[in-house]
Amino acid sequence: MSLKKVGLFAFLVAAIAAFFILDLGAYLTLESLKARQADLAILLDKRPLVIIGGFFLLYVATTALSLPGAVILTLAAGAVFGLWLGTLIVSFASAIGASLAFLSSRYVLRDWVKARFEKRIAAIDRGIEKDGISYLLTLRLIPAFPFFLINLAMGLTKMRLLTFHVVSQIGMLPGTLVFVNAGTQLAAIDSTGDILRPALIGSFVLLGLFPLIAKWIIGLVKQRRVYKKFRRPRRFDRNLIVIGAGAGGLVTAYIAAAVRAKVTLVEAGTMGGDCLNTGCIPSKALIRSARLAHDIRHADEFGMASAEPAVDFKAIMARVRGVIATIAPADSVERYTELGVDVRLGHATIVDPWTVEITDRDGGTQRLTTRSIVIAAGAEPAVPDIPGLAGAGFLTSDTMWDALATRDAVPRRLTIIGGGPIGTEMAQAFARLGSAVTQVEAGPRILSNEDEEVSIFIANILRGEGVDVRTGHEAVRCDGKSLIVKSGDAETSIAFDDIIVAVGRKARLSGYGLETLGIETGKTLIVDETLKTLYPNIFAVGDVAGPYQFTHVAAHQAWYAAVNALFGVFRTFRADYTVIPWTTFTDPEVAHVGHTVATAKAAGVAHDIVRYDLGHLDRAVAEGANKGFVTVLVPPGKDKILGVTIVAAHAGELLAEFVLAMKHGLGLGKILGTIHSYPTMAEANKYAAGEWKKANQPERLLRVVERYHRWRRK
Ligand SMILES: Cc1cc2nc3c(=O)[nH]c(=O)nc-3n(C[C@H](O)[C@H](O)[C@H](O)COP(=O)(O)OP(=O)(O)OC[C@H]3O[C@@H](n4cnc5c(N)ncnc54)[C@H](O)[C@@H]3O)c2cc1C
Repeated sequence: MSLKKVGLFAFLVAAIAAFFILDLGAYLTLESLKARQADLAILLDKRPLVIIGGFFLLYVATTALSLPGAVILTLAAGAVFGLWLGTLIVSFASAIGASLAFLSSRYVLRDWVKARFEKRIAAIDRGIEKDGISYLLTLRLIPAFPFFLINLAMGLTKMRLLTFHVVSQIGMLPGTLVFVNAGTQLAAIDSTGDILRPALIGSFVLLGLFPLIAKWIIGLVKQRRVYKKFRRPRRFDRNLIVIGAGAGGLVTAYIAAAVRAKVTLVEAGTMGGDCLNTGCIPSKALIRSARLAHDIRHADEFGMASAEPAVDFKAIMARVRGVIATIAPADSVERYTELGVDVRLGHATIVDPWTVEITDRDGGTQRLTTRSIVIAAGAEPAVPDIPGLAGAGFLTSDTMWDALATRDAVPRRLTIIGGGPIGTEMAQAFARLGSAVTQVEAGPRILSNEDEEVSIFIANILRGEGVDVRTGHEAVRCDGKSLIVKSGDAETSIAFDDIIVAVGRKARLSGYGLETLGIETGKTLIVDETLKTLYPNIFAVGDVAGPYQFTHVAAHQAWYAAVNALFGVFRTFRADYTVIPWTTFTDPEVAHVGHTVATAKAAGVAHDIVRYDLGHLDRAVAEGANKGFVTVLVPPGKDKILGVTIVAAHAGELLAEFVLAMKHGLGLGKILGTIHSYPTMAEANKYAAGEWKKANQPERLLRVVERYHRWRRK
């Protein structure tokens, strides 16, 4: 806590302590007020401005310091100033005092509370952003909630001061009027309890519930408005229709069938979607062959003769297809039919919010009605508008597998546009298989979602393996089979035999009814935290919805979408993106979870960096895989993991321990206290935790222990 904060905190504590030590509360009782009412009236006659000003300040101070007595002061305002002037004074003084208490709480406590309860505060902040005004109004209107607690609690959220002030003043007005009015009849009041009779409390509660009821009604009206143009079927053929049988759609359909819903899954392309057919699986299969080629080239490091691998590219691509075929039954029509899913191979179009038209491969159509729809239509490669590119016969992750499958040889000169994970994985793999690869990236570094240190590390590895990594180079046009790139003002030409475009993937947002329904889209389909679109019965998951483009995130979202679509009338769940692992399958792999140094800095999250270098890890040395490191970000002086980056062989596997730890709030102490098999790569995690422990040794305690040992030697 900063010195200023400590000073303010000390002042507040001293002021509150003084109130109690000097027993000032004795003046803020009904009896004391009644006894002084006549004197106060005389004083007001003599010096009205001083009395009004003094009272105003006293009221502000009492509420700002959260002292008891505001009720008595409100009664006093009625007794001394009358209904209208009293209400005016109290209304402004109470709102200003509340805002000061709100500010004190925010200034002194928010950072501290935020650091300790990061996730909870983030969730509360999201709620406040969405519904804060109606919550605050409700709390203010119902006098059962202690106002001082509302001031302090709201200060811990990120509600804007002006919003808090205005809503508070409006919300407190009815109560102020009732109490000031009661003050005008002071003689008739024997206790403050007399003021709030059950009927009055009832009307306050109704008033307090009004914003919530109003919000609910507005929700219903909005809902009616979006559905207005459409006629809701009286009965439904299905509980759920899922569009797209990739990672997101398959898991959604699986969950729906598991809870015995009648579910139809529609796939226009190939079952399994991107990941199985053109994404994760073929790329990892290719990377495996490439690693073997690399190992053969470096066999001398392991006591064997190195050789230039005799790459049979056709056989490699056949293996890639074989791997897909081995996994495919898990995503097949047969398996899902057996699980109870009605699988349709065809193109789905949403006709209205409850009707999906399926056009099968023979052109036949069928319309099915459904209570809910989950869109899992995925994404497709983004292709930049580069003159001449189309004529150059470019490839993408969607087309390259088929296009290269029949080739006898690996592309001789391969240019890859894009320095993201896909471009980087492919650049290394093809270089290892023998292509002369040039990787072109317009930004200053490859793998820009990782820390700069990681980008440099991997770029150097790639360069060491012969990839011509050109960062800061913008692809400007194709001249036949040459790509013209620009760096600064200079243009250079890169000749290629094949060119792969890997500049990112864009959500599939057209051609299946979103436009007709007016479902909002940006870069992705717009959904709320429950994965709901504009239409409360239509949800979206996976690459089409974002915000991440990972198979594991699509599968994670699928649970939320399925449960919200089928059981949302009872309860809805918000997708949780707090702990998302990322892995790039270069060699060594790059994996991270939570904050990187760059994101922590950008978010203003205070952190220490713990680092362990693989050069010292026994297993890594034995494997000849001792290039890499583990970095862990922790809050200074605390055993909490903010983020981890691992650059190592099998980094994606090593990361799992940290993902689990972060998900369940375990710190490095727990990892250090866990037995890891020797010699394993996973020990790197434990040693990283050890580095943290070393840097956070209890020095004072160790000095005492040292003295104890010295004494024992005497
Ligand atoms: C080269 C590459 C490597 C990758 N590597 C990894 C990795 O290692 N790890 C990882 O986590 N992620 C990886 N990804 C990303 C991963 O593949 C995607 O995040 C994941 O497939 C998204 O799943 P999805 O269900 O959202 O979409 P998809 O898998 O794309 O499925 C969408 C399906 O919807 C179908 N469809 C679309 N519109 C309609 C319609 N109107 N009617 C019927 N069907 C329709 C499509 O045909 C498609 O099959 C990689 C991607 C690529 C391209």
